[in-house]
Amino acid sequence: MSQKFNIPITRRAFMKMAAAAAGSLAAAPLLPTAAAGPMSGNTGDTISYAGKDIPVLFRADCCVVGGGPSGTAAAVSAAQSGLATVLIERGIALGGLGTLGCVLPFMDPLAPGCDTPYTKKLKERMRRHGIEMEDGVTRQGWINPEVLSLVLDEFCDEAGVSILYHTVFVDALTEGPRIDAIVVQTIAGLAAITAGTFIDASGDAILARTAGVPAERGYEKTGKNQPLSFRFEIGGIDIDRVYQYVSGELGEDWCKTAPPYYEIAEAMGRKQRYKLEAFMQRGVDSGELTAEEAVYMQGFTIIGKSGTMSMNCPELPLEFSATDPVSYSRGVSYGRKMMRHIFQYLHRHLPGFENAYISREATMLGARESWRIRGQYYLEEKDYHEQSRFPDAVARTAWFIDAHGEKISEKLPKGGFYEIPYRSLVTDEIENLLVTGRSISASFILQASMRIQPTCMSIGEAAGIAAAWAKNEGIPVNAVAWNEIPEKTRSYVSRG
Ligand SMILES: Cc1cc2nc3c(=O)[nH]c(=O)nc-3n(C[C@H](O)[C@H](O)[C@H](O)COP(=O)(O)OP(=O)(O)OC[C@H]3O[C@@H](n4cnc5c(N)ncnc54)[C@H](O)[C@@H]3O)c2cc1C
Repeated sequence: MSQKFNIPITRRAFMKMAAAAAGSLAAAPLLPTAAAGPMSGNTGDTISYAGKDIPVLFRADCCVVGGGPSGTAAAVSAAQSGLATVLIERGIALGGLGTLGCVLPFMDPLAPGCDTPYTKKLKERMRRHGIEMEDGVTRQGWINPEVLSLVLDEFCDEAGVSILYHTVFVDALTEGPRIDAIVVQTIAGLAAITAGTFIDASGDAILARTAGVPAERGYEKTGKNQPLSFRFEIGGIDIDRVYQYVSGELGEDWCKTAPPYYEIAEAMGRKQRYKLEAFMQRGVDSGELTAEEAVYMQGFTIIGKSGTMSMNCPELPLEFSATDPVSYSRGVSYGRKMMRHIFQYLHRHLPGFENAYISREATMLGARESWRIRGQYYLEEKDYHEQSRFPDAVARTAWFIDAHGEKISEKLPKGGFYEIPYRSLVTDEIENLLVTGRSISASFILQASMRIQPTCMSIGEAAGIAAAWAKNEGIPVNAVAWNEIPEKTRSYVSRG
């Protein structure tokens, strides 16, 4: 028989029900003990939302919104740490921008000792599937997106994460400083999920903002987000011919590797003097390309997809916003046209592209930056330059300040790095919320450095561990002192 209750109810009563249904609140085992296992879904309960009775699909210990690099890592580490964990994802693949957005390779955070157990395990597993990610020179992770989504499914399956695909976050039901439940749109309609801890890994801080956490967007000096890109893949390329032409005949020497790990690029107006700039300029001069289509072109080979390159372009003009739904949607159509023009130009003129075709379009636009929360600690540019260390650090990185559209590009000295504190994942406003990935509490400039996929994964991994620790200690996640968790349980330990 279905149990019915209405929101609002008292927080205490609600949590008591949630605890009873989820089982004992006794101490959860932490890494590396056995996972809690997937939940069956459909609790039989309903909840009243906007005048309708909607089913409570899961009563979880931990609910993660967004299955990108940070969200999947968070869900896997929470489940491995013993939490009954549900992961909601609006697409039908995990990996976020890395799969749905056609973003590769994983950039090397350039910080010695930056790998955490999750990133190490991911590389090992990709290797087992025949994808040797490292080229031995650049340490970039040359992924294959279809193998990555397969591996992430495997990770979730092994850890016991319950995944809800094609499920979109809709609303947060809060009581004072806590999120009691979220409402999601599933393939069957609206449903609710209750959890002890929620992790916002949407990249857009959608859950945090809905729950009332302050957030900011864009560069404080211009109000603009970083540019959106609409990435795609081109198949049917004779990669050896491209290599021979670009690195041989044009004498391009900045790409330190050769096929199968190979990259072409030009970035007009950024004084990087790529040899392909004159090639793209000829397209502008002939009217085959617009100046904005020629402003940035980059292509990476994909390991295990011979004859295919992943294109890090077109880069949309800054007037298209990552935070305005109407402008964003116009950007999709505009970007698709830009993509076609770039493809046609390469197809007509770049040796090796004679038999090429567009083989895949991203299914989400590439937002480098949208909203960022204001949490307990706000990382800023000075943390980058001063190479800040924090006792509660959850990750380290040295990736440069890669702010497209702002012509800011700085590198730390070799061996240098800064750390990311746990406090930039939690807020004073909502006690049972963690925010991971590219929308943690950081300024526009700092975010331009910390946003790369491996760093986002390490942040997510720590969030999952902290969620389990909070349950273990009977405290909310915003009261966790990461540095007081035993070292063997932490995914990253600061050495100062
Ligand atoms: C054009 C471009 C090029 C880049 N190049 C590189 C590169 O070469 N190497 C590198 O390492 N990094 C690169 N990055 C950066 C990197 O890809 C991102 O910063 C990183 O993927 C962020 O991870 P995340 O988990 O925070 O968010 P995302 O990867 O954005 O994942 C968020 C996930 O949440 C889901 N989601 C969002 N909203 C909802 C909702 N309401 N309900 C349910 N699910 C939701 C999305 O579908 C997605 O799966 C690039 C980024 C861009 C845009």
